[in-house]
Amino acid sequence: MAYIEPAPIKDKENPFESMMSRFHIAAKHLGLNEEVYNVLKTPDKQVIVSLPITMDDGSIQVFEGIRVIHNNILGPSKGGIRYDLNVTLDEVKALAAWMTWKCAVVDIPYGGGKGGIRCNPRAMSSGEIERLTRAYATAMKDVFGPDTDIPAPDMGTGQREMAWLMDQISRSRGVTTSGVVTGKPLVLGGSLGRLEATGRGVMVSTLSAMQKLKINPYNAKISVQGFGNVGSYAALLLEERGSKIVAISDITGAYYNEKGISMKEAMAYRDENKGTLEGFEGAEKMDSGDNLLFLDVDVLIPAALEDVITMYNADKIKAKLIVEGANGPTSAKADDIINEKGITVVPDILANAGGVTVSYFEWVQNRLGYKWTRDRVNRRSDRIMKSSFDVVYETALKYNVSMRIAAYIVAIDKVASAYKYRGGF
Ligand code: GLU
Repeated sequence: MAYIEPAPIKDKENPFESMMSRFHIAAKHLGLNEEVYNVLKTPDKQVIVSLPITMDDGSIQVFEGIRVIHNNILGPSKGGIRYDLNVTLDEVKALAAWMTWKCAVVDIPYGGGKGGIRCNPRAMSSGEIERLTRAYATAMKDVFGPDTDIPAPDMGTGQREMAWLMDQISRSRGVTTSGVVTGKPLVLGGSLGRLEATGRGVMVSTLSAMQKLKINPYNAKISVQGFGNVGSYAALLLEERGSKIVAISDITGAYYNEKGISMKEAMAYRDENKGTLEGFEGAEKMDSGDNLLFLDVDVLIPAALEDVITMYNADKIKAKLIVEGANGPTSAKADDIINEKGITVVPDILANAGGVTVSYFEWVQNRLGYKWTRDRVNRRSDRIMKSSFDVVYETALKYNVSMRIAAYIVAIDKVASAYKYRGGF
C-alpha cells in the first residue's frame, strides 16, 4: 500500500511551546515557586542515537532514535515510543512532559518520558522494523530499565515492537526482564485489557463528562477522528453504551452515516483491509477528512494527531464536548476560542490516561509474577479514570479554569510537592 503523507498543518505550533504555555498558566494559578518552575520546564535527559540499519535491498539507511526523560521525581519515567515520519525532538520533548503530567493526574508512581524514531513504518518490511527496533533497544540499554525508564507503544508501534524491545533488552542483560516495557503480547507478560485500555479510559471520561453536561449517552451523536487503537476502541465501547458513532476517519479520509456506523463492521473491515477504511461501505466518504471535526454532534473525539484543532478552525466546531484521545490534538492558541464557545474539553492528559494506567498494572503484575483477570484490570482502571475526572472537575470549579488548566494544576501540584519533600538540589 502506498503511504499517504499527512497534509502539512498550517499553523503548526511548536508542541513543546504549546505544552509550556498551559504549564505556565497553571503554574501561575498555583503560585509555583520559580526554582521548581525552572526544573520542570527543562527535560531531565535527552538522548539521541544514530541507528544504521541494513534494509532488505542490501542498502544501509541511518535513522535517528530519540528518548527524552522529562522528569522522574515521582518514579521511573514512563511513556511510549513513536514511529513516524514527523517525529522531531521538540515533539518528543512535549510528549515526554505530557507523560509526567498524565501520570501525576491519575496518581500512578511514574515520571514522564517519550521516545521516537523518525521513520515511515508503513513503507518498511517487518524485518526492517525488527532490526530498527533491536538497534534502538541496544542503543538505549542504559536508559531503559524496569526501575528507570519504561517504554510502551505509541503511534506506529504495538505489541510486536514491544516484544522485540523486551527481548533485546533481556538478551543484553542475560535475564528475561519483562517489566522493562509495557504493552507486550499476553504470553510475554502483557496485561489483559491493555490493548483496549486507552480507548476504555476515553469512554469512561466521555461518560463522566456527559453526566456533568446532562447529555444522555443513549443516542448521543459522536464523531471520532482517527481509527487506530485509541479511536476505534473508544468508539466501540461508547457504541456498546448506546451512543451513535456518526463519523470516523483515518489517513484515507472521513466516513459519515447519520444513522450510526457499526463499529464491529468498521473494525473488521479495517483489519481485513491492510489497516485502512478505504472502500468501507457502512458509511459515506466525506469530501474532506477535516470536515469530520465540524459536524453537528454532541461529542467530538480527536484520537489521531497533534494540532488538529487550531486557531484557524476552532470556531467551526459545533460539538458540546471534546474528549482528547490523542496527545495534544488542540493547539494552545485554540484553547481560548474553544473556551469562549463554551465547549467542554476533557484534556489529553486526563482523557487518554487509561493506557498508561493499565501499563502500570502490567508492570505491577510483572513484578509480582502474577496475572490479574480482565475484570480486575477494567474495574481498577475505570475507578482511577472516574476519580481522576472528578478531582480535575472539582479543581476546575475551585480555580474557575478550564478542565485542561485544572488537570495541569493537579499534576504540577503533585510533582512540586514531591520536590518539596525530597529536596536535594
Ligand atoms: N503512549 C501512550 C500514551 O501516550 C501509553 C504510554 C504508556 O503506557 O506508558 O499515554
